[in-house]
Amino acid sequence: MSAVAEKQLIQPHGGGLVDRTGERPDGVDALETVRLTSRELSDLDMLASGALSPLTGFMGSDDYERVVEDMRLGSGLPWALPVCLAVESAPSGDRVALANEDGKALAVLEVEEVFEYDKSREAQQCFRTTDEAHPGVKRLYAQHDHYVAGPVTVFERLEPAFPQLHRDPADTRALFAERGWRRVVGFQTRNPIHRAHEYLTKCALETVDGLLIHPLVGETKSDDVPATTRVQAYDVLLEGYYPQERVVVSAFPAAMRYAGPREAIWHAICRKNYGCSHFIVGRDHAGVGDYYGTYDAQLIFDEFEPHELDIEPMFFEHAFFCRTCGQMATAKTCPHPADDHVFLSGTKVRELLSEGKLPPAEFSRPEVAEILISAYRN
Ligand SMILES: [Zn+2]
Repeated sequence: MSAVAEKQLIQPHGGGLVDRTGERPDGVDALETVRLTSRELSDLDMLASGALSPLTGFMGSDDYERVVEDMRLGSGLPWALPVCLAVESAPSGDRVALANEDGKALAVLEVEEVFEYDKSREAQQCFRTTDEAHPGVKRLYAQHDHYVAGPVTVFERLEPAFPQLHRDPADTRALFAERGWRRVVGFQTRNPIHRAHEYLTKCALETVDGLLIHPLVGETKSDDVPATTRVQAYDVLLEGYYPQERVVVSAFPAAMRYAGPREAIWHAICRKNYGCSHFIVGRDHAGVGDYYGTYDAQLIFDEFEPHELDIEPMFFEHAFFCRTCGQMATAKTCPHPADDHVFLSGTKVRELLSEGKLPPAEFSRPEVAEILISAYRN
């Protein structure tokens, strides 16, 4: 019955959900070992679960070149960011073991190709800058100079940081099907959810069957709010203000790349694999500093033909509470001047929280603010 219900959901990108988990093959210990960075480990785990379907491993030069040049895989299927594994030099064997930062083997990669790549070109194309102050560019420039490509078999998955929120694409799909959802909107976040984003997710939910709140829990910048604090804040918000039967909260295991527009496309494609038919794209999605224009992450969706991505982006403006409207609104729906709006800058919010003061209830739910305050105290 669930298989029938799952057919009602959006198809995974490329048509089928990839599964790259498998038994530990013989002779792993004798193989040359590549230690992965935290970003590469996140990618590996997402390859295992099918979150990066249709990819079956780290990209070869055909896919890489086409992705960097025009946001497509070699097959022509849309794909916005490289998923590559950097190595110092070509491995000697035709298989390598992929290990975590402690050297523990998690997977085997069948070496199909080793190729050199141009870091500044990748940076310019993917991050729209070659400025080393950009965290994604900085990480790219620090990588080894070759990419090793080939399919992976993952025999040991990463320990999830939040086991209660761990759901692979097959799990979210089964859950959506069980609930009878067909149209599901995904919400990406790497921040605590204040009233503004609560409003966007609820506006989106008004038009579909269910909402997947999908916070990114992979590596982020050190000045972002830590995932542990955010998860506590999501819990209290969900408990107090969302209908449980319409919402699923689950962890998105990706590492942030801060690639702005291209990452918005990449995030949307990944969420399609998790079973989302719609995806919320706010202003400056996955941006950092002022590298991207306010609407670039929305405009980039125009570079694809209608229905080519299949998942439908839902574009939103910044939201705020308007005292005259007496409700949450955006510039699209409220005619009143900025003085009527409850607006706090990020700096102002951090200042209040660090002083142990609650921001106005129109800005943040008090339960959420309390959690952030106690995190600041520690
Ligand atoms: Zn108003």
